[in-house]
Amino acid sequence: MARRWWLTLFFALGLATGAMSAHGWGYAGHEAVGAIAERLLTAHARMRVQAIAGISLQAAGKWADCVKGVVQTETGAFRYEPAPQYRASCVEFESDGGSARMEDYVRRNWNNCARDPGSEPCHRQYHYTDVATQHDKYDRSHAGTHDHDIVHSVRAAIAVLQGKTTPPPLVIQDSREALLLLAHFIADLHQPLHVGAIYLDGDGQPINPDLPENRTRTIMSTRGGNWINAGSTNLHALWDAIPSSVVPSAISDRMHATAMAIRRSSGSPASWPDQWATESLKTSNYVFKNIKLRRDPDNAERWIAEFDDARRTMAMKAAIQSRQLARAGARLAHVLNEIWP
Ligand SMILES: [Zn+2]
Repeated sequence: MARRWWLTLFFALGLATGAMSAHGWGYAGHEAVGAIAERLLTAHARMRVQAIAGISLQAAGKWADCVKGVVQTETGAFRYEPAPQYRASCVEFESDGGSARMEDYVRRNWNNCARDPGSEPCHRQYHYTDVATQHDKYDRSHAGTHDHDIVHSVRAAIAVLQGKTTPPPLVIQDSREALLLLAHFIADLHQPLHVGAIYLDGDGQPINPDLPENRTRTIMSTRGGNWINAGSTNLHALWDAIPSSVVPSAISDRMHATAMAIRRSSGSPASWPDQWATESLKTSNYVFKNIKLRRDPDNAERWIAEFDDARRTMAMKAAIQSRQLARAGARLAHVLNEIWP
């Protein structure tokens, strides 16, 4: 009885924040990261961002999700045909040849990676990685990583903005495209469920797919939480939706102060995405520790999330999201200030 009540409250709150979006952080989250970063830019970086992108970072962060509105037609051509619910967030990219630029990016980044049968087009895979939450470090040798995952896409965008050639397999045309991608991908890298993933054995128990003794066992992916039902939405979408207290128009001075206090990461910018992924992985481990899973009786591939204390879980989610958005905004500024001091 008590649990049912808490779950009802939990999902009501989740839906109130727009939990139906399946786009990393949702558009509001990407706008928030850009808005936080903008306050921390050097004058030089601010000038360069405006000259290259022609739009604010707040707007720029949405582009990599807007291109998901490009579809491949039966003739093999690429056409921008966004779903109606996403159109309003993307309309600023549709003018002055903007639709053609989105179609061209998707065409270049559709089949340019080693794709497993039935997997998503490459550009959609740039937004995440799926490292088992049992690990305490992002490492390219782990299952669920690849050379075009979120870590590599952030590194590729940084490289292009530094004037280097794009590390393959990504195909980034110019510094404008790199800037739009960087503003988005740094945010995604800080969404814990875009990095850490829970894998399950045949009995629904968490399993580390990288241990040699597990190689012959049944291992099921939960697709970054997309295959874990959470009320009327799924766990991934629930985490993409941000609290109303951190939408761009409501970001508090305290949150800006939090972002300002975040230190520049150590080493060179090329090493930063790995560090940030490791941090997000540890956060995802904490998130999943607070969730129990049971089989979905209606779908053998899906699971249902259960929370012992949904109010506490919801508060924890909001706190982690605020911190991660602040970190992402600060770090986007750190990269750009490093390139344009
Ligand atoms: Zn994304």
